[in-house]
Amino acid sequence: MLTGHENPDGDCVGAQAALTQLLRTLGKTVHIVNPDPLSKRFDFLSKHTDFASYRSSDGLPEFDTAILLDCSQLSRVGALGKRLETCGMPIGVIDHHVGSAAGDGCVSYVDVHAASTGVLVRRLFREMDVPLTRDAAEGIFLSLVADTGWFRYSNADREVFEMAGETLALGVHPADIYDAIYRRNHLDSPRLLCDALGRHRLLCGGQLAMVSMDKSLVDRGLKVDFDTDEVLEPLRCVEGVEVVALLKERFDGTVKCSLRARGDVDVQSIVSLFGGGGHKKAAGATMHMRLSEAECALEQAIAKSLGATSSVVEDRPER
Ligand code: AMP
Ligand code: MN
Ligand code: MN
Repeated sequence: MLTGHENPDGDCVGAQAALTQLLRTLGKTVHIVNPDPLSKRFDFLSKHTDFASYRSSDGLPEFDTAILLDCSQLSRVGALGKRLETCGMPIGVIDHHVGSAAGDGCVSYVDVHAASTGVLVRRLFREMDVPLTRDAAEGIFLSLVADTGWFRYSNADREVFEMAGETLALGVHPADIYDAIYRRNHLDSPRLLCDALGRHRLLCGGQLAMVSMDKSLVDRGLKVDFDTDEVLEPLRCVEGVEVVALLKERFDGTVKCSLRARGDVDVQSIVSLFGGGGHKKAAGATMHMRLSEAECALEQAIAKSLGATSSVVEDRPER
């Protein structure tokens, strides 16, 4: 049984689709069960791969091993993670996040230098001497574009471009995948993007751009499957901005934060202060505090990391 983190992204589901193909070729019976349903953005994968999502009232398919993809801790797998914790079955991990070698896997394949989890799955095909199929290639391609910001980020290395070329040779159509992911937005999404971006504040002498989405804005977003990642990129493009922070107030009283860095700031170490994780330049955490407290705590931690603590107070505009 393959699973992954809550709200599975393109890397998680793409890697799962590809690994399914590999394991089936090796004669295994494979089920993908995620903590949340497959987003409509990635529904092209369901033409060849079945994605189930877990509800605690449901049973699980019969399995003798669970593999976590794109995360390493059962605490990131929601209610399904709790179930797996007590099921007594071996847990494997395939992941590229910092610290994942010390995760919950009894067997782990972790490379923090790999751009995506899909890259690791592609390497496994080679290791097992199994040729890549078109359907698996589609999953690999999705994983590459999802985690490199469509080849823009610094993790888009030679291996990424080589693998992407290889998937195209197998019949993957990048423009179709782009349209499927990014060009089926709800008609309310431009207004939401506007409203979220309009809330941004520049702090730490212009080095930190912070956006807080309160419950009502988060709720509007959830209703139309708004991709909040879209808020991050325009802010990361502002000259002088080193860190972008997006905070989302959740209904369970927690705050989900996403940090993105442009230069040398290590946002993974910042979120680790709040029990989160990720990569040096893209990381997140679930913060157990109120939105206003989370804003202050993050601002302080980021200011410290930027070495700009002194400018924080003066730069904070009236709200
Ligand atoms: P996000 O900001 O949610 O897009 O996540 C950015 C990166 O950080 C992704 O690689 C996530 O898998 C990772 N990440 C996000 N939230 C957490 C968390 N609570 N714990 C560990 N890693 C996280
Ligand atoms: Mn992910
Ligand atoms: Mn990933």
